[in-house]
Amino acid sequence: MDIIFECPHCTQELSIDAEGAGTWIECPACSKKVQVPEPEAKEAPAAVVSPPAPANRPAPAAPPAELVAGKVINAMASSAGAKESKHFSVPVHEGPTESLIAKPLPTLEVSAKESDRQMRIKSFRHSDHVEVGKDHFDEHLNQFLGKVGEANVIQLNTFTYTHQDLATRAWITDYGVLVIYRG
Ligand SMILES: [Zn+2]
Repeated sequence: MDIIFECPHCTQELSIDAEGAGTWIECPACSKKVQVPEPEAKEAPAAVVSPPAPANRPAPAAPPAELVAGKVINAMASSAGAKESKHFSVPVHEGPTESLIAKPLPTLEVSAKESDRQMRIKSFRHSDHVEVGKDHFDEHLNQFLGKVGEANVIQLNTFTYTHQDLATRAWITDYGVLVIYRG
C-alpha cells in the first residue's frame, strides 16, 4: 500500500511505497528533506480519497542530521514522482465540456418551435353570435374550442357586459366567455 502525504514545505502531495515509512526523502517539487509518515499514523486509507485538512496533520520534526546523512531516498527512484502525477491529472472534464458546447443549438431549435405557440385571448360576446333570433353562441364557442384543442385551452372566463339594442334602444346586460389559449 502506498503512503500518500503532503510535503510540509510546499504542500505537494506525494506518494511512496509503504516500505518508505519513517524514512527521509527529497521532495521532488521543492527538493527539501521530508520524513515519510507511518501509514497507520496520520494517513488512514480514507485519507487517500480525501486528504485531511493541514491542521490535522502534525508537522514532522526537523530531520536529524544522522538520518539525512544515512537514509535519504531518491523520490524519483522509489516511483513517488511517477505516482504523484495522478494527483495532477484533470482532463476528466474535457468530454462533458465539449458536449455542452455542441448541445445548445438543437435545444434552441426545439424551444423556438415551442414558442411559436403564444398565449392568446379570444372573447365571445353572446350578442355577437345571435343572428335573426337564432342563438349560435354555444355552437360558435364549441367550434372554436374544438379547433384550439383541449390541451391548449388555458382558462375559460365568463364576463357580463351591457350593450344597447339597435332596434329597441334598450340597454341589455348580456354575458360572454373569454378563452385564454395557446395557439
Ligand atoms: Zn516539497
